[in-house]
Amino acid sequence: MRVGLGWDVHRLAPGRRLVLGGVVIPYRLGLVGHSDADVLTHAVMDALLGAAGLGDIGLHFPDQDPAYRDACSLELLRCVVTALRREGWKPCQVDTVVLAEKPRLAPYRREMQGNLARAMGLEPGSVGVKATTTEGLGFVGNEEGLAAQAVALLSELSG
Ligand code: MG
Repeated sequence: MRVGLGWDVHRLAPGRRLVLGGVVIPYRLGLVGHSDADVLTHAVMDALLGAAGLGDIGLHFPDQDPAYRDACSLELLRCVVTALRREGWKPCQVDTVVLAEKPRLAPYRREMQGNLARAMGLEPGSVGVKATTTEGLGFVGNEEGLAAQAVALLSELSG
């Protein structure tokens, strides 16, 4: 078995969509990035890649590459799982936490969990999606950005 850690941050700005775990969340601010800037899915991808020793998201999906402009991060997550399988690994369990002052993410938690689980070929119960504020502190508290952390456990495909 292998474990991996992922961490990502994106800026919040008006005029952008807020996409988390593939769910478009209605809010006055959205995340800025080359792709859909889905900070939660990016953290999951980095955790998976790290666990498999396959580098990071920037290596596989460079943000200068026009192919990934406005890309759906759930699609990129599926590509990561394919890359893992080529190396003889499969996702086993993933846990995550999103750091967001606003909006309240609880109403979207199940849908995010389902989207991530489906993209990785896991049962929803094997994917944790949690959210916390930072009590008004720092860039998250000031609503300058959102952050996400993920840990992933991989098992051998043959196992
Ligand atoms: Mg990112």
